[in-house]
Amino acid sequence: MKVWLDGHLVDKQHAVVPVYDHGLLYGDGVFEGIRVYNGRIFKLKSHLDRLEASAHAIHLTMHYTRREIEQAVRETVSANGLKDAYIRLVVTRGPGPLGLNPFTCPKPTTIVIVDRIQLYPTELYENGMPVIVAKRPRIPVECLDPSVKSLNYLNNILAKVEAHEAGVHEAIMLNTDGEVAECTGDNIFFIRGGRVVTPPVTAGILNGVTRLFVMNDIAPFCGVAVEERSMRLEDLFTADEVFLTGTAAEIIGVSSIDGEVIGEGKVGPITSKLIAEFKSRVASQAPED
Ligand code: PMP
Repeated sequence: MKVWLDGHLVDKQHAVVPVYDHGLLYGDGVFEGIRVYNGRIFKLKSHLDRLEASAHAIHLTMHYTRREIEQAVRETVSANGLKDAYIRLVVTRGPGPLGLNPFTCPKPTTIVIVDRIQLYPTELYENGMPVIVAKRPRIPVECLDPSVKSLNYLNNILAKVEAHEAGVHEAIMLNTDGEVAECTGDNIFFIRGGRVVTPPVTAGILNGVTRLFVMNDIAPFCGVAVEERSMRLEDLFTADEVFLTGTAAEIIGVSSIDGEVIGEGKVGPITSKLIAEFKSRVASQAPED
């Protein structure tokens, strides 16, 4: 595997960053996870927009222009010869002296990794995935806005540990007002009476690229309306269907929450329709915008 590191393609084992990089020392940086489908970089524009917004939110001035980053991404994809892949684009604060001050770091580190990813076992895509509700709430917007995709993922990682301890792969996270926010690495939707509902960004979530694709493209095409509104756990427990979306996860149905069966306890009919449409769109001409 070749990794793009600050302007050079290097072998994976030589792709190393200094231990004084504030990305490592403090989780100071931003990133994106992007899919490649049949050679096309799915929603690259949306991911670059979000990367720029995240960088801006943490007062990080990128070293490369948007055009240079786009070229780096394309170059790394072709250097690795993968038609279907997962891209990890990372911009850290860069190396600097010890101490939190980000303005002591003269040059951000820019990394493009291209690899394969299988987030959840195939069987769960077919039969639905059991999840739990994490006890730990999502970080409040006023502390560190979850819409910023920063390298600070410990809030999510510790909720993932709760999922792991419960023997499942994913956990639903509530915000500090007790509303449903999202999962550790996926956005969440429920369906009742044919209507699809997802929490608004103000609930304290990452505004997922897959979430927006489902809301604005896939669901309307399938004839189902999506409403953004705040939701509580009761909405999920009484839903006909619940599904999650994410770049790595794609679309996956939820079969149970905390052991309580959701709907029929399998991937519901509307979720199945959305999955089929999603798959066919990305397989043929995945949109890059
Ligand atoms: N929420 C969180 C916390 C995430 O990390 C992610 C990305 N893995 C998502 C939602 C889904 O966002 P996207 O569809 O842009 O991958």
